[in-house]
Amino acid sequence: MIMDPKGKRKNQLTHTASSGTADQPLRVAVVGSGPAGFFVAQSLLAKTDLVVTVDLYERLLTPFGLVRFGVAPDHEEIKRVARQFDKVAAKPGFRFFGNVDVGSDVTLDELKSYYHIICFTTGAQTDRRMGIPGEDLARSHTATEFVAWYNGHPEYQDCQFDLSVERVAVVGVGNVAVDVARILSRTAEELSTTDIADYALKTLRQSRVKEVYILGRRGPAQAAFTNPEVKELGELAGADIRVLEDEIVLDPLSSAEVEQSDDRKLHRKLEILREFGVHSPAGKRRTLTIRFLVSPVELVGNQDGQVVGLRVVRNRLVEDGRGGLRAEATDQSELLPVGLVFRSVGYHGVPLAGLPFDHKRGVVPNELGRVLASPGGAPMPGVYVSGWIKRGPSGVIGTNKRDAVETVKAMLEDLALGKLPSPAHPEPATLESFVRQRQSAMITYADWQRINQLEIARGEPQGRPRVKFTSTEEILAALNPEG
Ligand code: NAP
Repeated sequence: MIMDPKGKRKNQLTHTASSGTADQPLRVAVVGSGPAGFFVAQSLLAKTDLVVTVDLYERLLTPFGLVRFGVAPDHEEIKRVARQFDKVAAKPGFRFFGNVDVGSDVTLDELKSYYHIICFTTGAQTDRRMGIPGEDLARSHTATEFVAWYNGHPEYQDCQFDLSVERVAVVGVGNVAVDVARILSRTAEELSTTDIADYALKTLRQSRVKEVYILGRRGPAQAAFTNPEVKELGELAGADIRVLEDEIVLDPLSSAEVEQSDDRKLHRKLEILREFGVHSPAGKRRTLTIRFLVSPVELVGNQDGQVVGLRVVRNRLVEDGRGGLRAEATDQSELLPVGLVFRSVGYHGVPLAGLPFDHKRGVVPNELGRVLASPGGAPMPGVYVSGWIKRGPSGVIGTNKRDAVETVKAMLEDLALGKLPSPAHPEPATLESFVRQRQSAMITYADWQRINQLEIARGEPQGRPRVKFTSTEEILAALNPEG
């Protein structure tokens, strides 16, 4: 048994700080190739005083997570962050293992034999529920489904959305709700120059939607959307923006809060909404209405079990006892005659095999990225998290960079203190043959680059940034044209 100087028993698996050298590179597995995963890889591979290899695992065939399957197709500039990720992937020591599911193809325990560090960056893969009657009726969907569908996510390509209805409600006033409402409101011409999935373009081209409502349960001052995103709603070619005058007038509590606030973004947000209020409709084909102080209480169905209305209750704001304001229902309600509902009330993390989980917060319990056996418990040596599975679904893509720096700092402190486990097989080639045994159709970064070029080439004749492959079969066939 190994004893430390104070005579206490030490974990025999702990390693000395000598890893991270040319003789003994630090071996790191990162699970999840969205921005959070790439920023962890970037932060590690940027260290000049450390020799490190990073294997980035992805259960899908293509990298970039929400940059490919979450960012709206008409926000091409946000997707440019992928260029930074290409630079990370070009660094010595980086490998991409696509189409490998950690949990089923390989397990966490198995990976521990090959790596000093395993870091999970799997995001928040499901949606929150509203918990009201009728939520599971036909034509009631989650925003996550719709977003994944229009972005060509292979697991969502078969989803059906009935766009023959005239009125749609999007519940929530975060940036995801804004994305969904904007895509529903765009003209086919606007969408046809984006990388939206081909099948989604076809369905949206035939859309008969005339009115889109975005529903906020609190007031304008509390809306979660950010200014460039809400401002863009007033600039759509085919939809007039509308707010209700009495709903953008601040209640006394919000008014007092705003008056004392020197948050310029908040003041600007309210100005944008007031401008929408004085804006006369130009008679465009569609209307997009942002409502405030309304909460859905029931989705009303017809005899075929399809949504035909959304009952909302009017709210007033009251102090929440934590320095903020919360919505409280009044006795006034109304029925919005909508035939389609998207709930966009936030994402939620899902438990990962072999890891503890905080079900309430939807995150893996952790301290600065070190996974804890339970909330407030002892760290699990060599296991870390970063991104939404660490802190919850908040912030923009860049927020994950800071988050990655924090997690990597914890990793390196643990390395220096000899707290990392010692893998039995640290040789990269041994690991690769093990993974290939489990998943013969593993995708490398070179494979992805080939897919990327093919998608871009498919887009060129149509003046689009790319035409995505949207199924696993299509991707595998494109990589192996001889069959
Ligand atoms: P979010 O920003 O947390 O917004 C969730 C919205 O749902 C809030 O308006 C919230 O209202 C509302 N809500 C929650 N529970 C509700 C309920 N039971 N009934 C009615 N409304 C309810 O979440 P998100 O829109 O999913 O976005 C996730 C993150 O991704 C955010 O950080 C967002 O900024 C980011 N994102 C950024 C972009 C971009 O930069 N373009 C695009 C998409 C997403 P309350 O405030 O009252 O709780």
